[in-house]
Amino acid sequence: MGDCKFCGKPAGFLRGAHKVCEFLHNEAKNKIISLVENAGSQGGNLPSLEKNINEEAISGYIDKTKANQLMVEGWEKAVERAFDDGVLTDDEESSLTELMAHFSLSQAELDKNGAYSKIVKGAVLRDIFEGKIPERVKVDGNLPFNLQKTEKIIWVFQDVEYYEQKKKTQYVGGSQGVSIRIAKGLYYRAGAFKGERVETHETIHADTGLLGVTNKHIYFSGGAKSFRIRHDKIVSFEPFSDGIGLQRDAATAKPQSFVTGDGWFTYNLITNVAQL
Ligand SMILES: [Zn+2]
Repeated sequence: MGDCKFCGKPAGFLRGAHKVCEFLHNEAKNKIISLVENAGSQGGNLPSLEKNINEEAISGYIDKTKANQLMVEGWEKAVERAFDDGVLTDDEESSLTELMAHFSLSQAELDKNGAYSKIVKGAVLRDIFEGKIPERVKVDGNLPFNLQKTEKIIWVFQDVEYYEQKKKTQYVGGSQGVSIRIAKGLYYRAGAFKGERVETHETIHADTGLLGVTNKHIYFSGGAKSFRIRHDKIVSFEPFSDGIGLQRDAATAKPQSFVTGDGWFTYNLITNVAQL
């Protein structure tokens, strides 16, 4: 006779759990995730949420550690939902941070799949859409960028792979290759970035380094190459799943691209900062 791993009572010959206990356990797990997801999306009464979670945990034989994991999962889902319908709003951001504080969920736990970073990124984009220069990045140490007097760092991507196109794109005929500047405040959802990756047979990995975005320039600083590009010298941007491509406004300029690992954020950030 084995004991049920949930209720601890005899479960029968060669059985590790009662079917009913397993069912209750799974039900309670889903319930906790969705309770937290809803509170993270719409806000809510946190003490009563806590009471509900404790009740679910008891009825579903869920211990403290497991309950915590499930809350993190619910929080991650709420972040996903917040971005599904567009830009992260102030309200969505406060619900998520209040939830985090109330249950003492740690930044490290919430960021193991990048969800915590995503709300920071969402807040940065929201500032830019509202015409504000975001001040949400603290830099430890000195950046290798020679900033101008009134220039402000908005974001720094680390370990960015920089690619150059081998040759200038040849356009056949006169009407192709027209670059269209994107409109102000255009926001692309994560789903729009399923496409290609930066690296192709046409590109050369030229360097790896820091990519800084300020209110005036894009800076790149690597072991071999360092340069900055003024936002208004860029004529077109190309979204990639893992980064961004850009074309400078110069007859000799070859397309350049940067792999940041997050095409959604990089593209929304750089194209909209350029409009500030
Ligand atoms: Zn049982």
